[in-house]
Order: sequence, then structure tokens, then C-alpha cells
Amino acid sequence: MSETRDRLAIIGWPVGHSRSPLIHNHWLAAAGRAPNYVAHPIDPNDDFRAALEGMAAEGFIGANVTIPHKEAAFAAMDEVSVAAQSLGAVNTISFKQGRFMGANTDGDGFLLGLETAMDQAVSAAGWRDRPALVLGAGGAARAIIAALGRAGIGDIRLTNRTREKAEALTALADNVSVGDWGARQQLAEGCGLLVNTTSLGMTGQPPLDGVSAMLASLGDGALVADIVYAPLETDLLRAARAAGRHAVDGLGMLLNQAALSFEIWFGARPEIDATLRAALIADIEKG
Ligand code: NAP
Repeated sequence: MSETRDRLAIIGWPVGHSRSPLIHNHWLAAAGRAPNYVAHPIDPNDDFRAALEGMAAEGFIGANVTIPHKEAAFAAMDEVSVAAQSLGAVNTISFKQGRFMGANTDGDGFLLGLETAMDQAVSAAGWRDRPALVLGAGGAARAIIAALGRAGIGDIRLTNRTREKAEALTALADNVSVGDWGARQQLAEGCGLLVNTTSLGMTGQPPLDGVSAMLASLGDGALVADIVYAPLETDLLRAARAAGRHAVDGLGMLLNQAALSFEIWFGARPEIDATLRAALIADIEKG
């Protein structure tokens, strides 16, 4: 097995904590390929394009990109996908004959996670025809709002503690409206999807308030998603299950955005199997 060719990486700063090597090396090994996916820090003060050219010369064929480089990666591309264009951010790069092709799989990864959950919860399939409520307006929310727009959701309701940050995201999709953070219960009225994209509920962060009232306001058969994955079972998801709602955990987005990157590089979507999910959960529980 070659250690110097067909290399892949997650680029960030810092990036040692990333779980992408665990995920992609599982799929590379399953496909009979060398598990050549590594964490590759790039200093934000470095020339990003020059750093990519250096990687291409070292045998890298592609990379994922995480904080703080997604916008710098976008600026360094020769070509970008529709999703990357709408966000001005790239999380997946393919190195092709000296050209850099950028994509962004974050939002579609989120949607794919929901669709997978829907297979197990057919009664929730009507969520696309009803309003969606997005809590939060950070980096992850941007990708999710744009993806909900591409999926044709006709009424995307957005609320964030800092209202101006939510207002700044309304151009990401048609039919995005912003409501006050204090009006979460009213905003949840009749929604087919509630998604928490804030860091509330994450280990070490305060809990999300007003959960029971929001859950009670949702429409019948609504999906409740939390993109926080540490802990995997957040208070929001626990309460959603207790209230008889369909709950989708944060591993859905994490694994599916990775699967879509892998598909871009190798042309086939890898399987999210029980072994991978268990390995990831063990890694998350390790902290
Ligand atoms: P970010 O850009 O820093 O945004 C953080 C969001 O949380 C903002 O909307 C912020 O509101 C809100 N927030 C933070 N503290 C709050 C508080 N005390 N009360 C109310 N709102 C609060 O972060 P991000 O990159 O979008 O990530 C958000 C979460 O998603 C993190 O937990 C991250 O681990 C997780 N995530 C998961 C995946 C996945 O694949 N599952 C992918 C990306 C991120 P303000 O604007 O008012 O500060």
C-alpha cells in the first residue's frame, strides 16, 4: 500500500481533534484502498492556494476543509459547485490536473441524514410540505438554510439569539423569514422540521430553553434534528422522543457530509455501517 500517493486530508487550524480521518480511513480500508487520510493543519497566515499546490505536489488528490479555512478555500478554487457558490464556502476539494474543484457537502449531508431517518419513520415524510424552523445563525446554519431552500421548503423560519446574524442569512434561500429568539414557540407552530444548529445543549454549553413548548407547537409527525453530536443524545432529542417526535441526531450530518465528499473523490457513495457508527460514538464518548 502506498503511503505517498492518493493521499487525502482534512485541512483546518487546529485540526487534530477532527473525526474525519477516522471516518474516511474506515471507508478507504473497506474499499481496499490505503488508509491515507490525514489531518493537515494550515496556518491561517499562510497563502492557502500555495499550500494546496504544495499538497498536490506531495500526492494529495483531495481534501476536506474545516474552520477557519472554508472561505479561503472558496477563494482559491478554479471551479465550484452550486452549493459552494451559494455559501461562498468550500468543504471538499478535488485536485484535478493542477486545477482545484470545490464543493460544499455540509447542507446536502444534513438533508441526506434526514432522508435516512425518514426511511425508518415513513410517517414523517410530509415534512417537506410544511414550514421548517432553524434555531441558530452560525456557520452550520448557513449550509442548512441553503440546502432547505434547494430542497424546495416554502417557509423557512429562522431565529437566533443575535437577530442581526439571522437577518444576514435571509438571502441564502427564498422564503426565509426571521423571528425573535424569544418567540420560538410561536415560530414552531405547524412546522414539519425543527433543527437546532446552535451550540446549546453541547457538552459544557448551557441547555436549550423552551424545548417542551416548541415540541408541543410542531405539526403532526414533525422531525426534530439536532446537529450537536457531543453528547449524541441531547436534551432536545431526548425530549423529542419522549413527546413521540421523530428525532435525528448530529451523526446524520457528520457522516453524510463525509459520505458525499467520498463520493466526489471516488464516484461511489460509501456505506455508513454499524461498525463505523459505533467507532465514532466511542470516539465522541472519549471526548
Ligand atoms: P457557530 O458558527 O459558532 O454558531 C454558534 C451558534 O450558536 C450561533 O447561532 C450562536 O448565536 C448560538 N449560540 C451560542 N451560544 C448561545 C447561547 N448561550 N444562547 C443562544 N444561542 C447561542 O457554530 P457552528 O459552526 O455553526 O456550530 C454550531 C454547533 O453545530 C456546534 O455544536 C457544532 O459542534 C455543531 N456542528 C455539527 C455538525 C455536524 O456535522 N453534526 C457540523 C457543524 C457544526 P449568536 O449568533 O447569538 O452568537
